[in-house]
Amino acid sequence: MTGKTASTRLLWFRRDLRLSDNPALHAAAGTGVSGTGDRHAGAAVLPVFVVDPLLWDAAGAPRRAYLVRSLRALDHALRERGGRLVVRYGEPADEIARLVAECGADEVHAASDFGPYGRERDSRVEDALSDRDVAFVRTGSPYAVAPGRVVKNDGTPYQVFTPFFRAWTEHHRRGPLAEPDRVDWVSLPGDDLPPEPDADVPGLPPAGEEAALAHWAEFRDRGLDRYAELRDRADLSGTSRLSVHLRFGEVHPRTLLAEIGSEASVFRSELCWREFYADVLWHRPKSGRAYLRPEFAGMAYDTGDDADEMYDAWCQGRTGYPFVDAGMRQLLAEGWMHNRVRMVVASFLVKDLHQEWTRGARHFMRRLADGDLASNSHNWQWVAGSGTDASPFFRVFNPVAQGRKFDPDGNYVRRYVPELRGIAGAAVHEPWKLKDGLPAGYPERVVDHAEEREVALSRYDKMRRQR
Ligand SMILES: Cc1cc2nc3c(=O)[nH]c(=O)nc-3n(C[C@H](O)[C@H](O)[C@H](O)COP(=O)(O)OP(=O)(O)OC[C@H]3O[C@@H](n4cnc5c(N)ncnc54)[C@H](O)[C@@H]3O)c2cc1C
Repeated sequence: MTGKTASTRLLWFRRDLRLSDNPALHAAAGTGVSGTGDRHAGAAVLPVFVVDPLLWDAAGAPRRAYLVRSLRALDHALRERGGRLVVRYGEPADEIARLVAECGADEVHAASDFGPYGRERDSRVEDALSDRDVAFVRTGSPYAVAPGRVVKNDGTPYQVFTPFFRAWTEHHRRGPLAEPDRVDWVSLPGDDLPPEPDADVPGLPPAGEEAALAHWAEFRDRGLDRYAELRDRADLSGTSRLSVHLRFGEVHPRTLLAEIGSEASVFRSELCWREFYADVLWHRPKSGRAYLRPEFAGMAYDTGDDADEMYDAWCQGRTGYPFVDAGMRQLLAEGWMHNRVRMVVASFLVKDLHQEWTRGARHFMRRLADGDLASNSHNWQWVAGSGTDASPFFRVFNPVAQGRKFDPDGNYVRRYVPELRGIAGAAVHEPWKLKDGLPAGYPERVVDHAEEREVALSRYDKMRRQR
């Protein structure tokens, strides 16, 4: 090992791939944030990332590719400061314990992970370390307010967003932390970064903290003031596109919140949705995969070969509904989809194709670079009517009306559905009405929306009568 000093700590990066506004880094370096702060001021810090095969295998190509790029950027930033990211592959409890033994670290530092798998993994790591008398110190989290902290006066969790938002606003008072002036980085031999998947990787934005901060500054200065007005327009770049940077912790929400004024209340509340859903998952860890309202599991859903065929058409963006197809193809092309369109395509799968939200959520998790269990599952449950604060089931999005409203000139559809590029204006949302018929290569509608809406509502009524 190079540069070993009296005390060495491991800094284990997970969903916080940045050096500024990173409380766990301050705690590890002894520059004073947590209770462990100055006890060992001047400790050397060994930065590590463990590629956990379980998470790696579960992530699709876009998230894997983005992770590798983000790790490369972190390594580059560390090298500029005299360090180097040590990458290891394997079961985190084994790998962290092995690294501790190799460098003689007396503490392991990380930000808390609040997801169900992360919690369970961390308690395994904690056990493995306590066998060696090494402390596992968790400081900070990927959220402005840690999940579980915002509770009602009677100590129970909020079930509904608006009162949560009000209470959350009172909690997030802490400002961002600057990067420590000087860290004594040390290193060990490590593995190479995993190769990026070479197939099936969409056009992803530049990764890493520097790119995230530059992107944020650009949006803050040029996009934020019109966010509330434009955020629902699929055809315009009205949203921040920060989700992937937040997902990997290249920027912390605290940094964003500190730089926006009170006039940015809509943007602030969107950031809070991310925190609300993390809080719901913390209190109800099974809600990432199971219905929050269990009665919805008893509703009739379509299965079998026909349903599979419909599902494939949905995944590929070949349902015959242009706004839905544009969204699904944007997902394949960019590893991202506009929020309004995410709602419309999700509603289409659940209420027009009568399939369970879990199936759609799995496809999203494979294809989204910003895929996040809490935000993904709970937004799906919101659309499916089965979430805590859900849209009522009988609110069925009409894919044509939504397209006409949020892509009024049809530019979004034409961008992602080349077969329809020859159709001018909003007519692109209903190509079946063209007097010359559907353009070559574009599919017929797989279902009739008006009919399927009735089917969905009657299944919902039946489910309610059975309760
Ligand atoms: C079916 C469905 C699945 C979704 N899956 C995910 C997911 O896996 N990961 C994810 O980050 N977001 C998910 N969202 C939420 C939302 O669509 C994205 O966060 C947003 O589109 C990201 O684009 P942006 O950064 O430009 O958002 P902006 O509008 O600029 O919002 C700023 C930030 O606020 C947060 N945010 C905004 N809306 C929501 C929301 N409804 N729920 C939670 N956080 C929100 C995000 O962190 C986002 O980056 C999903 C929404 C739906 C309807």
